[in-house]
Amino acid sequence: MNALTPKRWAASMAAQPGASLMRILSLPAFAILLAIPASAQRPEVSARDRAAHERMIVLDTHLDTPSRFDDGRWDFSVRHRYDEDGSQVDLPRMAAGGLDGGFFVIYTAQGDLGPAGYALARDAALVRAAAIHRVIGENRAALGLALTAADAERLHRAGKRIAFISMENSWPLGEDLTLLGTFHSLGVRMAGPVHSRTNQLADSATGEARWRGLSPLGRQWVAEMNRLGMVIDGSHSSDAVFDQMLELSSAPIVLSHSGPSAIFAHRRNLDDGRMRRLARAGGVMFMNSIFLVQHDGSPERDAINERRERWGELDSAGRRRLLADAAALDAQRPYTTADFELFMRSLLHAVSVMGADHVGLGADWDGGGGVIGMEDVAALPRISARLRREGMREGDIAKIMGGNLLRVLRRAEAAAAR
Ligand SMILES: [Zn+2]
Repeated sequence: MNALTPKRWAASMAAQPGASLMRILSLPAFAILLAIPASAQRPEVSARDRAAHERMIVLDTHLDTPSRFDDGRWDFSVRHRYDEDGSQVDLPRMAAGGLDGGFFVIYTAQGDLGPAGYALARDAALVRAAAIHRVIGENRAALGLALTAADAERLHRAGKRIAFISMENSWPLGEDLTLLGTFHSLGVRMAGPVHSRTNQLADSATGEARWRGLSPLGRQWVAEMNRLGMVIDGSHSSDAVFDQMLELSSAPIVLSHSGPSAIFAHRRNLDDGRMRRLARAGGVMFMNSIFLVQHDGSPERDAINERRERWGELDSAGRRRLLADAAALDAQRPYTTADFELFMRSLLHAVSVMGADHVGLGADWDGGGGVIGMEDVAALPRISARLRREGMREGDIAKIMGGNLLRVLRRAEAAAAR
């Protein structure tokens, strides 16, 4: 989930390509690519690319699609269109894009700290968890719940899509960390302490620095996450929280949907030094497709997005009106000017800084992600094809597309067993 106010967007500064980016640009493959005309640069996915993509386990760490699941009206088994209802993930498009699965998110937008707020958040998160299980159950022939890396491999062998569950924002735990065990028993295997505002556990990257990092309860949360074998997610955490979680955690931590601040200087992104320390600790940055440029986060944009989410309830006149209003807003102020090339530059920068063992995919699908030329998950084969054209080895491509996620899951499982 992106959920940033226009003011925060406005506070962001356009990024200058950093030194590491210049290193990538000096790579021979990239130089050749820049020398050929733009029309020929459009990454084509050959039959060989497609076959290789299908063989890999392709996973994304941040699928916000469950925000559409609660009322049971949006059908995950049917192909939808991004330009109509704004959605980016469903079973037909996962098949089209060779996306084997990923983490389906229990997202809770930060509200009041205190008993009443905690109870509301807990109940909303439990409802969302139930909705995810309902959707998995309704699609059991095509999709299965994964609790471990081995589950994911078993589902892949059986030709099924893989549904892990994660929590974005641990506000719903209130001050009762035994609830983490409850969510673990509901299948949650990854969680981040905080979202876009500081809460009882940690300072947010985009919130006030109340705790100078983790709160005392947040430190206990890290230990409990390790004990249960759940992967700690530092996306949305402040830099101080990231530093403290890296130090405290007995298993590698991840960033489920973040990017390099060398590409775009935004508080949600990470500097090269922290990226290197993440890699040294065995962690992975899963590449976000937002925070690559300043996005339109205006109230007008929010209103269009809310109308899109009710696409299924609109009559044909209502749909025509929505598409016309959306086109008018896009013409005046596009949601994003980031394109596939910029997404790849961000990913390749992360590879140049951390190495292929520490980069993955977490594009914030259905949470504000997507770029021009990669509007939904059907476009994912472009990424692996492009990495091949960059001269990357097959083994490294497979790690980025999903293998690194399975490795960190295994490390978390092993840390819990100790
Ligand atoms: Zn998010």
